[in-house]
Amino acid sequence: MWYNSSPSRSRIPANRICASVYSGSMAVEFGGEPLHLLADRAIWWPREQSVIVADVHLGKDAAFRKAGFPVPSGGSEKDLRRLDELIAVTSARRLIVLGDFIHAKNSHQPELSEVVSRWRQSHATVSMLLIRGNHDRSAGRLPVDWNIPETEEPFADSGLILSHGPRYDQPLPVLAGHVHPVVILNDHDRSTVRVPCFVFDESRCAILPAFGSFTGGHPMDRQEGRRLFLTSGKRVVLVR
Ligand code: MN
Repeated sequence: MWYNSSPSRSRIPANRICASVYSGSMAVEFGGEPLHLLADRAIWWPREQSVIVADVHLGKDAAFRKAGFPVPSGGSEKDLRRLDELIAVTSARRLIVLGDFIHAKNSHQPELSEVVSRWRQSHATVSMLLIRGNHDRSAGRLPVDWNIPETEEPFADSGLILSHGPRYDQPLPVLAGHVHPVVILNDHDRSTVRVPCFVFDESRCAILPAFGSFTGGHPMDRQEGRRLFLTSGKRVVLVR
């Protein structure tokens, strides 16, 4: 069902993929909409002057520590600094999060709340929107002073559908998260590395890599009509 091709929506033509103005990124057209795949696991949507990320999972480290696992702290702050950088490089007017901004109820600790409040105030002129994901739903509403409106999926916005979970039944191209897609690369010594990737299933549904530093990954198969763009964090590469 995922890969039914619709005659009106062809895959991204190879000649519509090129290096973009942002370092290490790649420009594509998705259902006629120009998008830039940014190396730091985000999309720049020029027409809407918006940076789009998915699966930030802020406070996942704190939730693990609360459960007794000694994982290092500072991951959430590092990810907020990465968002600072993306907003600065693109001069974004808006930040869209395609779900799972917060990891869990246990993530809502005073220190995270203060860090995010300060971060939000430092981007007072940037509007933000959260498409609620499954983790956001179980973590509960965001603190009001964060000033990040929340909406349910799927959400139609300027010719695209914004969703947490991938959808293949929408009348417009879908941008989604949730899957945390990776490609497993095998080296000659049989060692493997898992590399985050963007997934484009024709021009119907695109899945962003998880933005959060402390997230797992789900291996993606190569399929007819599917294009995978790996990102090393420095450079986006189309898998041929
Ligand atoms: Mn997630």
